[in-house]
Amino acid sequence: MLDSIGLLVLDVDGVLADGRIVLDARGTEVKTFHCLDGQGLKYWLRAGHQAAVLSGRASKAASRRAAELGIEAVYLGIKDKLPAFEKILKRFRASAENTCYVGDDLVDIPPMARAGFAVAPADAVDEVKRVAHYVTAAGGGAGAVRETIELILSYQGLWDGVTRRYRDRLPSGLAARRNPWRDRP
Ligand SMILES: [Mg+2]
Repeated sequence: MLDSIGLLVLDVDGVLADGRIVLDARGTEVKTFHCLDGQGLKYWLRAGHQAAVLSGRASKAASRRAAELGIEAVYLGIKDKLPAFEKILKRFRASAENTCYVGDDLVDIPPMARAGFAVAPADAVDEVKRVAHYVTAAGGGAGAVRETIELILSYQGLWDGVTRRYRDRLPSGLAARRNPWRDRP
């Protein structure tokens, strides 16, 4: 199931951002994103995979964050998520079974039921967790997306390549040095 996943479709509030919506005095929406999720998405795209954002709300914060992460397929203000999900599949010529959808609320259930791999963050509502194939240990906006990406890339044998380019930069001998925590007898 996981080995053929190449498209990741993400809800925004409660998934890519935490579920809180902060409004300033001018009514501008402020959202909290997590840099581990952002970096994970960069690894995901670098692995040759695709990503899209599908949100019920329209906000500048969401479109700005998507642009920052290099996600071009951005669908905001979508009340009925299933037709938009189908549109995204068509856009990427992807099948539902090769797609992972991450959602946290009831509106996400229809696309989650279609997706080959459905993921819910730890703080998703119970109904969503029940239809998910996997519930992350991390919450929405707090590493749930990173965890999903690491899980899939690890399964596909691609995560090691992601980490190797950083590990290889360790000064020689450092990696071989005894680590009293890791190498405890
Ligand atoms: Mg949501």
